[in-house]
Amino acid sequence: MVHHVDDKWGFASLAVHGSGGVDEMTGAVSPPIYLSSTFAFRNSQHGADLFAGKSKGYIYSRLSNPTLDALHREMAFLEAGEAGLSFGSGLSACFNICISFCSAGENFVSSSTIYGGTLALHKRVLPRLGIEARMVDGTDLSLIEAAIDAKTKYIFIETPANPTLTIIDIAGCAEIAKRHGIKLVVDNTFATPYLQQPLKMGADVVMHSATKYIGGHGDCVSGLAVGTAEFIERMRKESLVDTGGILAPYNAWLLLRGLKTLVVRMDRHCENAMRLAQYLAFHPKVAWVSYPGLKTHPQYELATKQMKKYGGLIAFEIKGGLKEAMGMMDNLKLCTQAVSLGDCDTLITHPASTVSSSYSEEERREAGISPGLLRMSVGIEDVNDLMEDLNQALRKI
Ligand code: PLP
Repeated sequence: MVHHVDDKWGFASLAVHGSGGVDEMTGAVSPPIYLSSTFAFRNSQHGADLFAGKSKGYIYSRLSNPTLDALHREMAFLEAGEAGLSFGSGLSACFNICISFCSAGENFVSSSTIYGGTLALHKRVLPRLGIEARMVDGTDLSLIEAAIDAKTKYIFIETPANPTLTIIDIAGCAEIAKRHGIKLVVDNTFATPYLQQPLKMGADVVMHSATKYIGGHGDCVSGLAVGTAEFIERMRKESLVDTGGILAPYNAWLLLRGLKTLVVRMDRHCENAMRLAQYLAFHPKVAWVSYPGLKTHPQYELATKQMKKYGGLIAFEIKGGLKEAMGMMDNLKLCTQAVSLGDCDTLITHPASTVSSSYSEEERREAGISPGLLRMSVGIEDVNDLMEDLNQALRKI
């Protein structure tokens, strides 16, 4: 029997069945992986019709592929958008969105608290193409608005933001974007569509490093974007097809598999993170903890308004500074020292010496990255084991 998708289903049902359910031709319950790079034409007229757009069908996998299409359909359902598109990485998604909106001489306004790689794209790569990223403190909506001029095409925000877990007001930014006739792009990597659906709050495009919670198992670097059918098709045709940063079909299948367990994984990530944040908040060797679910978080109310739960990431500062923070990480036995996030395993990073080490001191200060700051992506392990690991590691410093 073939299951059809009903967009009135609840989120967990869409996460399991959103790609279209059972394969119509074979009955396969797990979607087939179409590894073919090219697709045969039935005859020369069929080839000509496909190229002329008179017939619908597959031509070549850089243009489109059935496994990727299943992923695009599912992500569009989950983000409550019209269409989706995948990329070889989250940064490729950022880049393609940017060049779909901006040409040389134009600009966009970006929150300054964003992932280090995105910051490098905004500050070091795009200016070479004549596109200016105007970086402002995204928590202050008046600064975002003040940076907009006649050449501004969109606002870019990441919320919760990497690595400090700053929350940006999505509906507030959407309102500004609408007033100025520009677009709002939201990096929804930390929250996933289960915890936050920016398009429902007025955003125009949502993007993900799908490498993180969407895949969920740390085995696939990938990116996704969802928006209107018109924008997604334009981005596919006018930038992705010609720059080539597509996702491999096998990786699309890994993401489809990851999405089936998104809800149960996120529930556990959120539950474990809340317990660890509460524990760290009272630890004498910890100066402060940033977790959107703690009432001490400066934007707790906003997080509560725009998120269903508070996510799996915690930022905290070890008293003392660099030596103590790095020393504490070296004492850990269960938690793994690694960049990235959203895996089943708990991962811990020292941003100042790793992901943000190429920033200038001023850039680090602006992004809130102090020498003692640690960022933990809380996994789905037994929370008591995680707590004991933190406890013994902190005791030794
Ligand atoms: N956006 C956020 C919030 C991230 O954390 C990352 C990577 O860590 C990216 C984008 C870039 O994604 P990728 O590494 O898949 O290119």
